[in-house]
Amino acid sequence: MTNDTHDPALTSWVASAERPEADFPIQNLPFGVFRHPDRDEMPRVGVAIGDRILDVTAARQAELLGGTAARAAEACEAPSLNPLMALGREHWRALRAAVSRLLRSGSPQRDDLLLPMEAAQLLVPADIGDYSDFYASVHHATNVGGMFRPDNPLLPNYKHVPIGYHGRASSVVPSGTPVRRPRGQLKDPAADAPIFAPARLLDYELEVGAFVGPGNPLGRPIPIGEAEDHIFGLCLVNDWSARDIQTWEYQPLGPFLAKSFATTVSPWVVTLEALAPFRSPAYARPAGDPAPLPYLESARDREHGGFDLTLEVWIRTRAMREGGKPPVRLTRGAFAGMYWTLAQMLTHHASNGCNLRPGDLIASGTVSGETKDSRGSMLELTWRGAEPIELPGGETRKFLQDGDEVIMRGACERPGARRIGFGECRGEVLPAL
Ligand code: MN
Repeated sequence: MTNDTHDPALTSWVASAERPEADFPIQNLPFGVFRHPDRDEMPRVGVAIGDRILDVTAARQAELLGGTAARAAEACEAPSLNPLMALGREHWRALRAAVSRLLRSGSPQRDDLLLPMEAAQLLVPADIGDYSDFYASVHHATNVGGMFRPDNPLLPNYKHVPIGYHGRASSVVPSGTPVRRPRGQLKDPAADAPIFAPARLLDYELEVGAFVGPGNPLGRPIPIGEAEDHIFGLCLVNDWSARDIQTWEYQPLGPFLAKSFATTVSPWVVTLEALAPFRSPAYARPAGDPAPLPYLESARDREHGGFDLTLEVWIRTRAMREGGKPPVRLTRGAFAGMYWTLAQMLTHHASNGCNLRPGDLIASGTVSGETKDSRGSMLELTWRGAEPIELPGGETRKFLQDGDEVIMRGACERPGARRIGFGECRGEVLPAL
């Protein structure tokens, strides 16, 4: 459902929001947590507009937000989005509507409520109690399965159950944080025993994250028809992965230290409401695939459960940086092609009574498409190193090297709507200690 906040004709008095390439026009209004550069204050919630941040607390104190929006804004005087996420959709909608009115052309220009985004420190937007990672791209699952089991790439449960594992919340970092190459147990297939050494097969995974809203009490599942009431919004996720650690450790209990050394998130959470003009049908299951079990099935989710969101991965090596060369794009993929919807993942997660709490992060799993240029990890792009990538300046890559910077971007574009973006999810690989 769209409303006047999505009107493509809306403009803002913040000039930078009117640039055609702006990720954060007035139709977007994503939420994040920032620390003021030169004030010794607690971090608090802001809204991105162009290249500025609206300080929600300052707007409330100036009595520019009334009623339900003021109550929602009170929850923004916090070092995380959790209190706002806990309030639920009615409050989110009221605050978005009030912020939209405040920032529109024609409203009084209040530059005193803004600060430049480049001057602020942007933090992980929520206090993430639990982080779970799914495996929702059938193309990713087929690619990776095919490398390890050429005769039987897709395991028999894949099309029945949204596969996931419990990730590590403590090592989720905001975009821009350098990522240290991990050490771990590596075992060469030809060797008799493992060694403990810096990972050699360091990789990224291009993913979309969903932040949980109110959530559910322990023991009470979330029906599929209510799943989206519990999703506050989406961000970009880089699920850094050490493939050599993973290969040795993953059986029988799944990934552990291969992934828990770092996960990067983009700092701005694009709300589900902002994404309303860009909803798409869920992935159309090919004839012969099983229908989802009834608890994962809903006509509305089938018709509108997807997101028309384009995702990209860019790389800039140390040599490219030192030579003044810009990043190059490795991948461009579509989130709409995921086998399971976010609503199905969330409902499945809570289906055994597991309680999801405000600020929990659910990631989609690597977003890979059918074509080679839409593969969301280096493992798939280079086919485990068999087909190295050639970069400008003569460098090649099978996996990430120290000094490589990985940059993920995402945007929604559709005729009749203003383009909105997710900003960046960026991280540079540091050498192992
Ligand atoms: Mn992953």
